Amino acid sequence: MAVKKLVYYPGDEARLRALSKPVPHVRNKKLRQLIQDLKDTLESQPGAAIAAPQIGALKRVTVVKFGQNEDEDEQPMLALINPQILATGEDEPGFDGCLSIPNIYSWDTPRPVWIEFKALGEDGRAITRRVEGMDARMLHHEIDHLDGILFIDRLRDPEELYTPVEGANGKTKMIRLKDLPHLTKENR
Ligand SMILES: [Zn+2]
Repeated sequence: MAVKKLVYYPGDEARLRALSKPVPHVRNKKLRQLIQDLKDTLESQPGAAIAAPQIGALKRVTVVKFGQNEDEDEQPMLALINPQILATGEDEPGFDGCLSIPNIYSWDTPRPVWIEFKALGEDGRAITRRVEGMDARMLHHEIDHLDGILFIDRLRDPEELYTPVEGANGKTKMIRLKDLPHLTKENR
């Protein structure tokens, strides 16, 4: 039980690109510890979900906090073991960010508007559920991690990446990475 070091892109890209293995036995001490580590680490971070490869464990386990849509209350952390997508709605571009790619965001990642999925809960019971909107985007993002896929791979336009910058008025604004001051012509 511990807050683990996160695996970051691009320094640790090889580990983030590896394929995670299904968990064969749910009632297992190591798995319980992995789930607790994921929860402890997520608790220490500003995100709503985390996948095992992000703390260096190549297992098909993620911990999510559903309830991310407007007018919804954030739900307690839920561990999903061997999550599988059963059906999806159509893709729509929208927000993405990743604890393993800090301070970089996009509004250009196509993901399904809803997902029906199944998984095992940490008590070993089967979970089948349909989630939509931000919850579907989040779950899709986490399952991507288990397959070695990062949100930057899915951008329709690879330049649609933003980072927060504090403006002269003290307000934070998002600027495109390609528009960072040292890259713009006036400053060359
Ligand atoms: Zn991520």
